[in-house]
Amino acid sequence: MKITTIFNQELEIKDCIGCHLVNTDFFKDGLISQTNTMQLSLDLELSYPGMMILSPKRHVEYFDQLTTDEANEWNKLLAIATKALRQDSDCIRISYFFRSFTGYHMHLAIMPIWKDSVYQDSQTILSDLIKDCKKLRKENIQKVILYKDKLQTKINSYIV
Ligand SMILES: [Zn+2]
Repeated sequence: MKITTIFNQELEIKDCIGCHLVNTDFFKDGLISQTNTMQLSLDLELSYPGMMILSPKRHVEYFDQLTTDEANEWNKLLAIATKALRQDSDCIRISYFFRSFTGYHMHLAIMPIWKDSVYQDSQTILSDLIKDCKKLRKENIQKVILYKDKLQTKINSYIV
C-alpha cells in the first residue's frame, strides 16, 4: 500500500503503518525520547502542541504482548512525559487515548489541555485534528516545534 503524507512524502507501506513509522526516519523530527524498545515522539502530521505518541518499536497489538522489560520502558516513558506536562502551569489536564486492536500497532496519545486554548476537551481536539489536519498543522506547527524543545529539555533532565 502506498500513502502520501501531508508533506507530500510518498511512503510504501508493506505491513503495518505503525511499524513503518517507528522504524524509519518518518518521526525523527518529532522524536522526544526513546528506550531500546519504546519511542516517545510528537506527531508532526497531527500537530497539536505537547501531544506525544508513545509506541513500541516492534509490532505489538495488545498490552499483554509486551515483555516485562518493554512494559517497564513503556511505564517509564509514560511517567516522564506526564511529569513534564504536569510541571507546565498552563497545562490544566492530560488525556490519554490508547489504541489497540487486532492488526493494528498499539500506541498511546498523551494529550495536554492548555489553559488558553480554544480546545477545552480532548475529544474535540482529536476529531478536529483528524478532520482538518492540514489546516491545523499550518496554524500549529511553529508552536509544536517550539514546545518540543521545552518538553525535550524537561524530559532529558528526568532521565539519568
Ligand atoms: Zn506494527
